[in-house]
Amino acid sequence: MTTAATALVCLLGDPVAHSLSPQIHTAAFAAAGVDAVYVACRVDDPAAAVDGLMALGALGANITVPHKRTVWTRVPHRTAEAELIGAANTLYRDGGRWVVDNTDAAGVHRVLVDDLGIGRGDGVVVFGAGGAARAVVVALGRLGTQVRVEARRSAQAAAVQALARSVGAEDLSHDQTPRLVVNATPLGLHGERLPTRYHDLGTGQMVLDLVYGPTATPLVADARARGCRAVDGLGMLVGQAAAAFECWTDRPAPVEAMWSAARAGLATRAPDGAG
Ligand code: NDP
Repeated sequence: MTTAATALVCLLGDPVAHSLSPQIHTAAFAAAGVDAVYVACRVDDPAAAVDGLMALGALGANITVPHKRTVWTRVPHRTAEAELIGAANTLYRDGGRWVVDNTDAAGVHRVLVDDLGIGRGDGVVVFGAGGAARAVVVALGRLGTQVRVEARRSAQAAAVQALARSVGAEDLSHDQTPRLVVNATPLGLHGERLPTRYHDLGTGQMVLDLVYGPTATPLVADARARGCRAVDGLGMLVGQAAAAFECWTDRPAPVEAMWSAARAGLATRAPDGAG
């Protein structure tokens, strides 16, 4: 039940109807006993929305496509993490001002370490060179892995490779077989396959597909059929949500409740509603 003291947290994006974040955060607030509501808002003027949320005394917000860039330029106060990654997905209050943060690297760190056991010296190929890839290589660099970024635009791939290096990764050469392949492109969202070389996995190799859906993505399904360990992007989604929850509430996130809500939300989707 909401009361006069209930705090407000919003998701700003367009579209937002597909988002699992309302279910995940509603479950988290309930499990942790936080008096707050999380509302998905389809917004066409993100700058006005950010100002409006401050005027309303909101606790915070998540930002999703296509508004990440506008909010980035609108809010001058950024965490070092957001500056490093060059993108933001979370807003939280610091007194009377908004601070933008990025919780994706923290989110994917949990998956890399807890689900996949990735650590120092492991070789990783990251396919894609957008905002998600930047967060992934920051997490990988901090783990001391060897990274090779591959993307259809070589200049973008080189920039993300340089970011990986700047946080501690070594370069993985082209003749080295990676222990882990990460898909950081939207391929698979609607059943599309990645280029064959990413599916051509051998014993001991693993897959992290940032895409997720109610059924296994093509990359995850292929990897599992070859006996390889493979996880989709739901763990990163829950991980970034847990880190955002901790920004807003200063309490440990109830991760199990968030996982249950994410799985339950996904189970209600039609198969092509992945991502
Ligand atoms: P961006 O648009 O910033 O980057 C996408 C990257 O994928 C770019 O390098 C782009 O290349 C490449 N790409 C897009 N289409 C193709 C294609 N057909 N063939 C080859 N490369 C392609 O997106 P994000 O980095 O923010 O997100 C990427 C995906 O990761 C999302 O679609 C989403 O599915 C997933 N994601 C999952 C998260 C989670 O929590 N699980 C969090 C964030 C993202 P180019 O620049 O040449 O277009």
